Amino acid sequence: MKPHGVQLNTVADLLGAATAELQELDTARLDAEVLLGMVLEVGREYCYAHAEAQVPAAAAADFWRLITRRRDGFPVAYLTGRREFWSLDLTVNQFTLIPRPETEQLVEVTLDLTRPHHAPELLELGTGSGAVSLALARERPDARITATDLCRHALDLAQHNAVRFGIGNVSFMVSDWYAALGARRFDVILSNPPYVDEQCPALWQTPLRHEPRLALDGGRGGLEGVSRIIAGARRHLRADAYLLLEHGFDQGESVRRLLRQQGFTEVETRLDAGGQERISSGRWQ
Ligand code: GLN
Repeated sequence: MKPHGVQLNTVADLLGAATAELQELDTARLDAEVLLGMVLEVGREYCYAHAEAQVPAAAAADFWRLITRRRDGFPVAYLTGRREFWSLDLTVNQFTLIPRPETEQLVEVTLDLTRPHHAPELLELGTGSGAVSLALARERPDARITATDLCRHALDLAQHNAVRFGIGNVSFMVSDWYAALGARRFDVILSNPPYVDEQCPALWQTPLRHEPRLALDGGRGGLEGVSRIIAGARRHLRADAYLLLEHGFDQGESVRRLLRQQGFTEVETRLDAGGQERISSGRWQ
């Protein structure tokens, strides 16, 4: 907490004290700058150019409230309500997972696979904030994208993001995986489903405990969502289409087996930037 009776008036004073308060986090200084920038409604670079500027008492009090929540493990993205993904400045809230950098690969691979198609039809299951579908829509204005989620509040947020970016080629719908899709078929189905094992202690520890359980908890072995998506895909893929899934670093083998069991070919897994198995795909004949 802010030391009692000590006047912290300038940008430099506040940042120094806040960085000390957050010392257990690798990103202490960065987080403090981002949060002070938010309170003062300026960019983070302001902190360098105006280190000696006086901060009004009310703003300093707001800043300390945020620093205290951050110290207690609350994610920065939920404090600021924003997270960048694929150069999109997304609005995020506690109804959705905070988009992760490794998930950008799901966008990359989908773009590669759909390059030969004109106006591909894509389905994203479990869109959350809309990050993946909106990135795809931005890159492929000709694509028609359907993005589902079980959570109405998540879809409201995704829709809000689409409007903010002026993206019109994504339609959002509430659906329990394929349940609301009728007989529709697609050229690519992709998903970053909940895949953390329901027994994994990380689910109730910082930072995951602040994110929606629905977006993280993949049931037994973390593979319940993955299995349902793979099993249902045959009824929703066209010939010569692809299914792509993000999964846990230790789930590659299981996901490849499930894909092969369901009749997918060209089954392969890509590694993330940390060298871990992260995205598996298969082709449907
Ligand atoms: N990558 C996330 C994590 O482990 C999990 C995301 C998910 O379940 N889809 O923090």
